[in-house]
Amino acid sequence: MKIISRKEAKENGLTRYFTGKSCKHGHIAERFISYGCVECAYKKLSTPEAKAKRKLYDATPKAKAGRKLYANDPVNKLKAQKYYASPEVKARRREKARTSECKYTGKTKQYIKDYYNIPVNKARNECNSQKNHYKQASPSWADVEKMNSIYLERIWMDNIAKHAGWKVRYNVDHIIPFIHDRVCGLHNEFNIQIISKYDNKIKSNYFENN
Ligand SMILES: [Zn+2]
Repeated sequence: MKIISRKEAKENGLTRYFTGKSCKHGHIAERFISYGCVECAYKKLSTPEAKAKRKLYDATPKAKAGRKLYANDPVNKLKAQKYYASPEVKARRREKARTSECKYTGKTKQYIKDYYNIPVNKARNECNSQKNHYKQASPSWADVEKMNSIYLERIWMDNIAKHAGWKVRYNVDHIIPFIHDRVCGLHNEFNIQIISKYDNKIKSNYFENN
């Protein structure tokens, strides 16, 4: 962990700093600018009594209204934006997500599973991962509804094949390649077609100039 003084952290808009020295309870951990040792804070907050107390308070209308008021304040919004954009916080959140600390459990887990079991959501998610590329190649006049219907048809064809027990699966392919070193086909209704996954693999990003 990078050693950073309290003053420096405060100037950078961080809420935590790290001195490398242990607290009075022997934790060598980060410290909150406003509170002190992070480990001590977690310990204090994770006792059953503290948890029960917090849960009770969080459910009161007063607490709910307070949270809403705080989140809607433009100053706090900016603060939050700045906080989540700082590299330290990003790294910490990434680390937390990778370890089991932040794994979804129970109801939430099931909800996420159900959500991605719906083909439309699954396709949308796949699309999202290449969102920027799609955005750049998509002209403003592209008929989004027509394109959506092609994508939905692809899912529909896949489902039929799945239920019939066929091995064939389909992809939406760009006729003029979308990812290529010399050309970039547009992402519009005229440049997409449904072909089988196998054909798509063979075609890859092959482009014949004739
Ligand atoms: Zn401590």
